[in-house]
Amino acid sequence: MPELPEIEVTRRDMEREVSGKKFKAVEAADKKLIAPHKTKAEFAKRIEGHKVKSFERRGTYIVGKLDSGELWVIDLGTSGRMQRVKGGKPAADASTRCTITFTTGGAIRLNDPKGTSRTWVITKDEFEELPEIAEAGIDPLETPVPWQTFGQVLLANPKSKLKALLQNPKIVTGLGPVYSDEVLFNAGLLYDRTSDTLSAHEVRRLYRGMVETLTDAIKYRGVSYDENDVDIYGEPGEYSQYVQVYLRTGEPCRRCRAPIERVKFQKRYHYYCANCQS
Ligand SMILES: [Zn+2]
Repeated sequence: MPELPEIEVTRRDMEREVSGKKFKAVEAADKKLIAPHKTKAEFAKRIEGHKVKSFERRGTYIVGKLDSGELWVIDLGTSGRMQRVKGGKPAADASTRCTITFTTGGAIRLNDPKGTSRTWVITKDEFEELPEIAEAGIDPLETPVPWQTFGQVLLANPKSKLKALLQNPKIVTGLGPVYSDEVLFNAGLLYDRTSDTLSAHEVRRLYRGMVETLTDAIKYRGVSYDENDVDIYGEPGEYSQYVQVYLRTGEPCRRCRAPIERVKFQKRYHYYCANCQS
């Protein structure tokens, strides 16, 4: 599932490969993908003949600023990935949900084996009113805040466990199972600590750990755990080789050599080092 680093890598690649290219034609596989539009024709009308001036990331959405003044929004969901296709008339595969061709040849595709992604065009005002945007949590990379502000946000939920807080999109944007575990390891904190038990020093460590982990993950272009986990060029991210705890049960901690442990938390496994985290 793409989390903040993989989404940010996609945004940067889209900026490089798609910005400035005029869109020729849209083929959307199903109406669910473009659900906010009533018809595929309506979506196509607002994309075709236009180009994106630049791509931003807002929360977990990739947002292309169209030359029409509207926004092209891409929500990769839990299984969507963009794919750059060069030249000719590219053949779609079974997971292709949408293909947008360029007037200069080539295309950008949205591939999604599970169909959890969405894409649509919206006005700027409508976009800001979307609940997931209006109520979005802290984005430590795009809109960094002082660590004290982060502490106040955590303390609004004093009895919630850290692992749950980090995965709550109203508190922090784009952290899922992989990076919430990695951030907690980086900060040396146990998943089941509640925010009201954190010292000022620990809050600062947690915030700094979050920024460090995400920045590092982007440098290595995110993680890849299956064949669908690829960037727009079809290449896997390399950060999975550097993760400290995620999926490393029984393997030695890279810091202290103690075996990494796992525990069920909210129906999923959480990975941690009982020696390095407290
Ligand atoms: Zn350790």
